Amino acid sequence: MTTELTTTETTIAAALERLANEHQQSAAHALTKSDEQVFFRRWSSAFRKALYYYLQGTRPASTPAGCWLVSSATRGGIIHQVDKSGHCSCEAGQKGIACWHAALVAGVEVGTDDLDRFDGGDDDAGDTPTDDDDGPWNEAARDVWAEHEAEQRLWGRLSAVRAAYLRAA
Ligand SMILES: [Zn+2]
Repeated sequence: MTTELTTTETTIAAALERLANEHQQSAAHALTKSDEQVFFRRWSSAFRKALYYYLQGTRPASTPAGCWLVSSATRGGIIHQVDKSGHCSCEAGQKGIACWHAALVAGVEVGTDDLDRFDGGDDDAGDTPTDDDDGPWNEAARDVWAEHEAEQRLWGRLSAVRAAYLRAA
């Protein structure tokens, strides 16, 4: 079964893949069996699992209050809620452990941030040059800054999750 992904979907899938790989690298650089390593390894698998379900068609639904709903992969009819700070209502999430629901939402948010860097990010033209007069340097600097901001937000969220995890351990 091949489904044609839109530009938005491709960008979100790419963000999930990048996050999975980055967390795997961080795990590889952490001390063996340290909390740090466990933390990054769990998030890496969570992002990979989220990517798998995303490619299979799973999409989080946003609520009027700004939360996200994700249906359980294993138990039919169960819906998990990821709140604005990235906390998930599932069993793992309640214990402060990485889960793919929160990872999926993080991927959607990072992917959306990636798209916002392009004018008219929703069309199929992909990374068409923006039509303002910024030179290449400004363009690149803005990209780097946007990336930096997106990472900061994600890291802020992940450190909150990690603090909860370390308290529980
Ligand atoms: Zn969850």
